[in-house]
Amino acid sequence: MSEEHEGEALPLAQAHPDHHTAETAKPGFSLAGKTIWIAGYKGMVGQALLRRLKGEACTLLTVGRRELDLTRQAEVEGFVREAKPDAIIIAAARVGGILANMQDPVGFLTDNLAINLNIARAAHQADIDRVLFLGSSCIYPKLAPQPISEEALLTGPLEPTNQWYALAKIAALKLAEAYRQQFGRNYIAAMPTNLYGPGDNFDLEAGHVLPALLRKAHEAKSRGARQLELWGTGAARREFLHVNDCADALVLLLKTYSGADPVNVGYGEDIALIDLAHLICRTVGYDGAIALDPSKPDGTPRKLLDTSRLQQMGWRPKIALSEGLADTYAWYRAQLAREAAA
Ligand code: NDP
Repeated sequence: MSEEHEGEALPLAQAHPDHHTAETAKPGFSLAGKTIWIAGYKGMVGQALLRRLKGEACTLLTVGRRELDLTRQAEVEGFVREAKPDAIIIAAARVGGILANMQDPVGFLTDNLAINLNIARAAHQADIDRVLFLGSSCIYPKLAPQPISEEALLTGPLEPTNQWYALAKIAALKLAEAYRQQFGRNYIAAMPTNLYGPGDNFDLEAGHVLPALLRKAHEAKSRGARQLELWGTGAARREFLHVNDCADALVLLLKTYSGADPVNVGYGEDIALIDLAHLICRTVGYDGAIALDPSKPDGTPRKLLDTSRLQQMGWRPKIALSEGLADTYAWYRAQLAREAAA
């Protein structure tokens, strides 16, 4: 998506067979002829949504942060009033790792509160009846029973390291519910698990475990290093969903789901981090050893979403972890080449 298109509606009116069969996709919100605003379209999820929605007979609306800072209420209201999309997906957020959250609690809390509040208010004022909010698996209580069902929300204390971000996200989900309860608005919320894929953050400090390991394996291979370090015992289990699968599920929810409860979006299986590390080494073609450092913390032993609600809607992920890792590694190498050429 080029910068000159920012703020304009992009006509993408190509009929494309739906990914879902008639019996799984109940008649709900048809995208045909509609304008959908992807707030945060430059991010990993935003880009995946653009790729997924290009196959739909709808018009995509995008605007970059330079033209519209979503933390500015009057500007967001003006943009929405003017552009009047039929639906909004809020893929914009201030995201970051533990360090970033610890360094700027006020920023994480206020930016994420503002982005969601401003868009929700603007949408309601402009009589837009369809908004999809995004939560995250990390906003469930720290000690939620596994696999984590949607009912676990607000049943216990949060993980202190990302509580600022989590609180803002929880407020956003409650905002969707409040607009539904008070004004009958068809606002919904999804809770994606850990995502990975093209556009991921490969920064070793700010990035998540999967892209960080991919990068470490790539660099270890390039240096001819004999081993790669993995923090902890390697026994902690985590769930990973390719961002294209996430976008596919979000589009299904946008089209068919109406309800006050959020819907978990996950892969449905978790993997021990040591097994993930081996899979990554195979993907990269690195055959050195994996050196565990058990003096470093493992974190929560297991984190897996209960995705039965989404499965009941007929949705399944299509991208196996090995396939998704190959795709992500190809993107990373292409990105390195782009950076080198710049
Ligand atoms: P990214 O950081 O990749 O993208 C976030 C986008 O939001 C960026 O394009 C950013 O713009 C934009 N943005 C942030 N602040 C503002 C602002 N003030 N005004 C305008 N735009 C702004 O995040 P992801 O794509 O990974 O995440 C998207 C959503 O998905 C978030 O709500 C996140 O919580 C959720 N999610 C993500 C998961 C993951 O593993 N990645 C897991 C679960 C949920 P710019 O490009 O200019 O910085």
